[in-house]
Amino acid sequence: MSKKYDVIIIGAGNGGLAAAADCARAGLSTLLLERHNIPGGSASSFVRGRFEFEPSLHELAGIGTPEEVGSIEAMFTRWGADVDWKKHNSTFRLIVPAKKGDKDTFINENGVEVTVDARMPVGFENFARKLEEIVPGSYESCMKAFDLSERLFKAFDALDNPAKLPFSIKDLPDIMRMASHTLKEGLDELGMPKKAQDIFNTYWCYMGSPASTFDFLYYMTVLHSYVKSGTGIPTLRSHEMSLAIDKVIRDNGGDIWYNSEVTKVIMKNGKPAGVVINGEKEVYGKYFICNSYPAVVFRDLFKETEIPKQQLKMLNARKTAVTLTTVYLGMNKTKEELGITDYSVFIAPDSDSDKQYALTKDFFSGYCIINCLNEIIPDCTPEGTCQLFLTTMTHGDVMKDIKPEDYKKFKTKVAKDMIETCEKALNISITPYIEEIEIALPPTFSRYLNTPWGTPYGYMLEKWDSMIPRTAQYIKDQPFENFLFCGATQERGDGYGCAYYSGEKAAGIAIKALKEGK
Ligand SMILES: Cc1cc2nc3c(=O)[nH]c(=O)nc-3n(C[C@H](O)[C@H](O)[C@H](O)COP(=O)(O)OP(=O)(O)OC[C@H]3O[C@@H](n4cnc5c(N)ncnc54)[C@H](O)[C@@H]3O)c2cc1C
Repeated sequence: MSKKYDVIIIGAGNGGLAAAADCARAGLSTLLLERHNIPGGSASSFVRGRFEFEPSLHELAGIGTPEEVGSIEAMFTRWGADVDWKKHNSTFRLIVPAKKGDKDTFINENGVEVTVDARMPVGFENFARKLEEIVPGSYESCMKAFDLSERLFKAFDALDNPAKLPFSIKDLPDIMRMASHTLKEGLDELGMPKKAQDIFNTYWCYMGSPASTFDFLYYMTVLHSYVKSGTGIPTLRSHEMSLAIDKVIRDNGGDIWYNSEVTKVIMKNGKPAGVVINGEKEVYGKYFICNSYPAVVFRDLFKETEIPKQQLKMLNARKTAVTLTTVYLGMNKTKEELGITDYSVFIAPDSDSDKQYALTKDFFSGYCIINCLNEIIPDCTPEGTCQLFLTTMTHGDVMKDIKPEDYKKFKTKVAKDMIETCEKALNISITPYIEEIEIALPPTFSRYLNTPWGTPYGYMLEKWDSMIPRTAQYIKDQPFENFLFCGATQERGDGYGCAYYSGEKAAGIAIKALKEGK
């Protein structure tokens, strides 16, 4: 019989990589299994012609400043993973182009008629002052929201590590009181004017739930980490991060097998005991950490009779989160020649996040984020060129009416519409200068990541299923004592940082249980 591992990790996305790094570093015999030939899941890169594209990472919070190390940076340092970070010292620019009949419009610096054009800086005070400049009367509520978010991190610690702390969540009464509020309710209660809320809520799309659904406290932690000290990205695309963690795992004695898809979980005495790889090879372990989606795992890797009933109920109650379409463009002009002045511009057909979310049920509704990597890494493409990536969101089974024979035409039309939207909103010309183009629709992400509808976002964060209840219920929500999920489907939802944290959390539980001989 082959070697029996302490821990087998299924999937080398961000969550699986983090889990494997911690398990290997703790001295457990660790096996990481990945169906592709490279690590990372979404955190990767691909090459077309002269360009190496970043497939997913717009911004990573938690990369600190020379004065204060950020939490993600600290995690990589703790692992001994070597990554060259490039800092980005502003947050977002939101542009809402004017529609017929809109009041309060103005012509912005690009010569476009808009209702909102907000370029928001880093730093709580700077952010609040800028918001006040755009929407008088918003400063105080904005600062109050940031103040609450500072204390919120304590509350999460209190939930995650109750035994270790000298205080409990009950010692944070304002946090307790705000815990049931949606983002909209929280900001209304703080007295923030609606127009300021619309700007303040721009990052809702990074978590995929709009202001009437998303919980106030969680949004505040997200915005807090972006505004506190800006964001960062690795110099060599997110592939650099994934390769650095791969090295940590191997340096600490862990095994990584690529081209190894787990096709079945082997059960013994009512609990997982091993896995089958590529339909052939069996390998056994004591503990399992799974970086794939519960819906996919229970459909493909277990017999129906083996799945705990509670898991099926949970899956039926949860909504799959939004999914993305991305257009990657290699340009034969520099960003200066194209007239691009910002790293990250959110172009929205309506300023209200709930209306933006409602519009995502149509395939492309005019909501688009445009990023230019050269703004942060000037030499990430050959001289005289730059790379752009455009992203839009959709939700639900949006591809169901598209016939296979129409797919290519459909894909081209979506890309064309997205490019034209950016050209109009920024008053620039993109189309004539495209040297390379790659278009990823939900089926592309679905095939690559093995997720329902191609979502990289897990399950929708809603009032009943937000970060706090998920954190409090984490252990109860796992299917077996020795089989834990990690990644975007877990407590914090999607995002690089969230997936790494969830991998670390699952690893911590496995390490403790195995060291205690459970
Ligand atoms: C276009 C795009 C833009 C994004 N922008 C940002 C951003 O700016 N900032 C941010 O923080 N986040 C962003 N995200 C989200 C972020 O990338 C994801 O939420 C995060 O990477 C999810 O990580 P995960 O651990 O859930 O693993 P995933 O990336 O889902 O990877 C799972 C891995 O498991 C493997 N796997 C699945 N099933 C099996 C099996 N049976 N056997 C073996 N292997 C298996 C898959 O092949 C894959 O490699 C973006 C995502 C996309 C797609």
